[in-house]
This record gives sequence, C-alpha cells and structure tokens, in this order.
Amino acid sequence: MWTAKVLGVGAVALALSVDVTVRLIRRLRSRGTLKEVLFFPSEIACVEHIFRPALPHSCVCSLPHGVETSFSRLLRHILSAASTLDLCVFAFSNVNLSRAVLTLHKRGVTVRVLSDKDYTAISGSQIGLLRSAGICVRCDKSSVYMHHKFAVVDGRRLITGSLNWTLTAVQSNLENVIVTEERDLVRPFVDEFHRLWVCNDPERRCVTVKA
Ligand code: ZN
Repeated sequence: MWTAKVLGVGAVALALSVDVTVRLIRRLRSRGTLKEVLFFPSEIACVEHIFRPALPHSCVCSLPHGVETSFSRLLRHILSAASTLDLCVFAFSNVNLSRAVLTLHKRGVTVRVLSDKDYTAISGSQIGLLRSAGICVRCDKSSVYMHHKFAVVDGRRLITGSLNWTLTAVQSNLENVIVTEERDLVRPFVDEFHRLWVCNDPERRCVTVKA
C-alpha cells in the first residue's frame, strides 16, 4: 500500500519536473529571439541615411534627420534581407518601401511579391514598377480579397500586422506591426506564402485557393 503511494507521488513529481524542465528549455530558447512591436502613424523623418548608410549626412531635404522612427525600423528590417524576401501584401503604393524592395533585388536578393489583383491595377500601385524591374510578382486571383500584410525575410524574420504598404498607412493611420523570429510564429507564414504562391501560379489552375 505504502509502496504504491510512494510510487504514485514519485511519478507525479517526475512528471512535474519534466514539465518544468520543458518550460525552462522553451524559455531559454526564446530568450534573445528578435521580438519588436512598431506602432503607426510614424513620425515623419528623412530615411535617406538608411538607403545610403555610407553617406549618412549627405541629404539636405527639409525633413528631420537622424531620427529613428517606426518607419525607419520597418525599413531596416526589410533591408536586412540577405538571401530572400517573400512579400504578401494587399496594397503596395509606398515609394520608399518600393525603393527598399528594389534595392534588395539589385543586391541579388530573391524577391517574390504576392498582391491583390484589384489593388495592383490602381493608380499609384508600385507592383507594375517591381515587375518591370524583373521582380517575380503574382496576383491573387481568388474571388475574395487577399488581405494579408506580411513579409518573411530570409525565411526566418516575420514582419506582420495591420499595415498596408501605403503612405497613408505609414503616416496617417493607427496601425501595428510585429517583427519576430519566433520559429513557431514564422513557420505558418512561410507555409501560407508557399501555399498562395503555388495557387496563384499563372500556369496552374488551383481549385482551393482559400484555406
Ligand atoms: Zn533628408
């Protein structure tokens, strides 16, 4: 009887210690992983130094200089791409974000852009410019809005939130963006991009476009 009780208590203690150990390992693994929250509208400031870091004081425009803003942080995360940028965004008309994507393309980064087909045709959309530059662009062809706003940098850094890639969203709207390298969060977005990219291949007929 006592032996059974002792064994039972021992089993519970072992289970608890395993649980604590697993939690501790998870916490240690996530420590140091990039996590950043950006809120918009962003303070309006010059971002020329981000595109030309070797010449940080070369711009003489009338905007404030040397100011770190939500938008400058967003640009830095995008421009950190070394090998790939997968972008899935409903509206894309922001000239500086377009410049960032074109900069990556010129650096040899593999850029893939997926956007909504209706918004792509709107005046001011940057999608045509990206396509003309040789960037691979696909438009969502389903009957509902492709309303995502996320980017995956180098397959491991996720940028996602409410922010469309427009000037209004950056400078006027209340918006949020989360930047993270938490693998459990990044992986589903990588998978979702792949799913939509394949489904919207112009050569392919995809029946189940939506999840
Ligand atoms: Zn300037």
